[in-house]
Amino acid sequence: MQLIDTHAHLYLKQFDSERSLVVKRAVEAGISHILLPNIDENTIKPMLQFCAEFSRNCIPMMAIHPTSVRQQYRKQIEIAEEQLSKSGYCAVGETGIDLYHDKTFSKEQSIVFEKHIELADRYDLPLVIHSRNSLDEIFKILENNNCERLRGVFHCFPGNVEQAYRAIELGFMIGIGGVVTYKNSMAAKVVEEIDLQHILLETDAPYLAPVPKRGKRNESSYLVYIAERIAEIKNSDVNFVAKTTSKNAINLFKISS
Ligand SMILES: [Zn+2]
Repeated sequence: MQLIDTHAHLYLKQFDSERSLVVKRAVEAGISHILLPNIDENTIKPMLQFCAEFSRNCIPMMAIHPTSVRQQYRKQIEIAEEQLSKSGYCAVGETGIDLYHDKTFSKEQSIVFEKHIELADRYDLPLVIHSRNSLDEIFKILENNNCERLRGVFHCFPGNVEQAYRAIELGFMIGIGGVVTYKNSMAAKVVEEIDLQHILLETDAPYLAPVPKRGKRNESSYLVYIAERIAEIKNSDVNFVAKTTSKNAINLFKISS
């Protein structure tokens, strides 16, 4: 069984004591690739070091996370832009708008998001979108831009079935993580309704660990629980879920195996 974790922050200090073990457990669980989204200007170095150390399995992305956008956002964009001009990044991520944690820089978040869309178009890369209390704002920005090669994923999709179809209509995939294993989760309804060809698997480690690890530090090997839950919801075989979603990830991020 091959699985791909399309979203994990394994370079964070929560993993410092056992980085190789975390990757080893993931590989043993069938995870062939782990995609690492950047957070801000301070995480670039640890992320690139991590990807260099585990270059067989780990691929970095580049962007400034919406909750990291500050007053000096122009400088932040410049840093991300300079990185993206180099090769080796599989996506512009993670980017988006977060109006849940703090609205102080909501205007700046939108400006940075629009700039990231432009960069994704320029370098022909998919966008990895973080959305919290902001789906309408994000849809509006995506619908109003005129990039021709726009594609990507809504990571940890926060919306309902109707919003999922709207995202798909815009050429985006639906990222499904640990939340799908929680009771009464909207993500489970979305998975039930949409076709597997629109779904990508992710852990968002160290956050949002799936049941039965809920509340603990998440890691890529737990992706198996997410795949199993999706198989259960869709009344399908876990191998088929793994195969289909891995193919989706390989195509979107142009992963060479
Ligand atoms: Zn993330």
